[in-house]
Parts: sequence; C-alpha cells; structure tokens
Amino acid sequence: MTRKTPAYGARAAKAPLAPVTIERRDPRPSDVEIDILYCGICHSDVHKVNDDWGTTHFPVVPGHEIVGRVISRGASASRFREGDLVGVGCIVDSCRACPECIAGHEMFCEKGVTFSFDSLEQDRKTWTYGGYSTNIVVDEHYVLRVPNELDPARAAPLMCAGITTYSPLHQFGCKPGDQVAVVGLGGLGHMGVKLAASMGADVTVLSTSPGKEKDAARLGAKRFVSTRTPDSLQALAGKFGLILDTVSAVHDLNKEIALLRNFGTLLLVGLPPVPTTLNTSMLTFGDKRIVGSNIGGIPETQEMLNYCGKHDVTSDVEVIKIQDINEAYKRMLKNDVKYRFVINMASLKT
Ligand code: NAP
Ligand code: ZN
Ligand code: ZN
Repeated sequence: MTRKTPAYGARAAKAPLAPVTIERRDPRPSDVEIDILYCGICHSDVHKVNDDWGTTHFPVVPGHEIVGRVISRGASASRFREGDLVGVGCIVDSCRACPECIAGHEMFCEKGVTFSFDSLEQDRKTWTYGGYSTNIVVDEHYVLRVPNELDPARAAPLMCAGITTYSPLHQFGCKPGDQVAVVGLGGLGHMGVKLAASMGADVTVLSTSPGKEKDAARLGAKRFVSTRTPDSLQALAGKFGLILDTVSAVHDLNKEIALLRNFGTLLLVGLPPVPTTLNTSMLTFGDKRIVGSNIGGIPETQEMLNYCGKHDVTSDVEVIKIQDINEAYKRMLKNDVKYRFVINMASLKT
C-alpha cells in the first residue's frame, strides 16, 4: 500500500520546481517513517533538475540532506524510537550482500545502489523521490542517528556536504599542521574548511568570489586567495599536501596541480557536467596524485555525524520556505550561497 505525500519537484529539465504529489510506501517491517523537519539543497539537486548529467528521470523530487523525527516504525524496526532525531543522506537501499555493501561502501553496491531520489528501488521498478517532501519511509539500516546536541537545520547539510568532504579528508590523513587548500566556497567547500580546520590543518580558500574573504576566516581558514586576480596563485606553487576541489563548473585543474607539493593529492568532489583536459606530466614530475571521492557509505556517515557532534561542527545555513526554492537555485548558479540553503519543511505542511 502507498499513501499520497505532498512534495516539490520538476516535471521537465530546467522547469521550475512546483508542488507535486508523490506516493510513499506504508512502512515495511524494517522501515521507519520520518517526519521531515529540514532538507538541505545540494548543487547535485540543481544538476539533476537541469539534467546536466543527462540521466534525470522526470518528474524528479530532489533532496538528500534530510533531518527529521521518527513518527512510526515497522514491527521489526528496533534501532530507533518514535521522536528520535534522525538523518537520511544519499543512500536509501542496496543489496546488503555484495563485497562493497559488506565493507560499508553501499554507494558502490555491485547490484546497484538505491539513491534517495531519481533512482530505482531494489525492485528495479519503483522510482525514489527525495526530501523536498513532508515525510519519507526508509529501511532503518540506511537511517542515521543525529547527535542531539546538533541543531537540526544546521545538521541537515552534513548528510551530503558533510560526508562528501569528511570522507576524503579523513581517508587521506588530514592532520594538524597540514597545508590544505579548499577550492570553491559553497556548500561543500565551507564544510571542507570547517572540517579540515577541526582536524588541525592550516587551511587556504581559493575562490572566484572576493566578497567571501571575511567569511572564509570566520569558517576557520588562515588564508583567502581570490583566483580571479591575475598571478594570484604564483606564490602558492608547490605548497599544499591536499587540495579539496568542490567546484560545480568546468575549470582548469592544471592550475591546481601546480599548487601541490611533491607527493601531494588533489581530491576531486565537484561534478562539473563536461570533461576536462589534464597535463599528466605535471603529475609525473612530483609523484602527485588526483583522486575522486563519492559521498561516503552508511558507517562512515554515522562516524562523521558523531565526529561533528563531538567537535560541534555544523553548516552555516540560510533557512528558506519551499515556496522560495526557485530563487535559491538561481542564487546558487550565481555562487551566491551562504553557505547552504536549507528548506524548513513546515512551509510545505501548512
Ligand atoms: P555550491 O554550493 O553551488 O558551491 C559551488 C562553488 O563552486 C561556488 O560557490 C563557487 O565558489 C565555485 N564555483 C562555481 N562555479 C565556478 C567556476 N566556473 N569556476 C570556479 N569556481 C566556481 O555547490 P555544492 O553543493 O557545494 O556542490 C559542488 C559540486 O560538488 C557540485 O558539482 C555537486 O554536484 C558536487 N557534489 C559531489 C558530491 C560527491 O559525492 N562527490 C556530493 C555532493 C555534491 P566560489 O564563489 O568560492 O568560487
Ligand atoms: Zn549532495
Ligand atoms: Zn551491494
């Protein structure tokens, strides 16, 4: 059985988001039903609505930075109780049996992961709809516990922007005294700055927006470099052990490789829609590395939430009503985000 649920979605590529009604399943034995309090807006939502990657199935209801409270659960769901503060990120199901799932890398499930929106359920027939809605039903295995000390609105972006930046910084050993650059000060970038600074790194922001300099310092960066200023990068050549690139649009990666020290690593998390050209000999002369990183699995996402609870790391948010979402999308495309839009879902319930 399913039930009708109010949501916001796009009916075609680049169409404005508007009210839609979706079907949510009744909770199965291992499901929990969550009343959504807040949902962050990730640039991946914008890419999907604009069909930048050419993969979107319409109508699409985005949203994968969900925080809410458990309102009901199936007979065998035992990890959470009604009233618990919980989160749902990008992953809502997977096969649970393949080596990647067993290792906690569900996003790489060999049978095909189910993402929280624009994805097929494990039945390979039913489309998923994301968090721009009043409630969601998810198997408890894929539901995250949000530390009670975190503000729910400011915690919502941790479900994607938080884990996507925590995972590569953590895996590539970000530690006190490291020289780390963060490229792009948007939703992911500002979490990258906060997390790298919380790990003790000396953080430099590389940004196309000179107006973000003061904010970069407040977020924990020691240095801010405006990349639009000619020759601004010259003094930084060979400086960084880690560079975290969060840029959503195509740009020149060779300029970033030049900033890596020998054996340094360029961590790519941004997903520009078009390929780019690399001068690979710049990597060879210096044993430099480029790696990609895709969100993080369920165990690592819980680890990140616990870390953020302990170190009091949350997102800087601008809370909006769902009715203002199209304006928020326009502002994100102009790099005007401080530093994550989060929808107060009460605006969809009245
Ligand atoms: P966002 O909030 O819109 O921030 C992106 C930032 O990139 C902008 O604020 C801007 O920062 C910079 N930028 C934009 N256009 C640029 C250009 N032409 N040249 C140089 N810099 C530019 O986006 P987000 O939500 O952080 O997402 C960033 C990217 O990561 C998106 O492509 C998204 O799809 C991807 N993503 C990947 C994963 C993953 O698992 N790997 C997860 C989530 C999102 P400045 O103003 O400081 O220059
Ligand atoms: Zn995202
Ligand atoms: Zn699997």
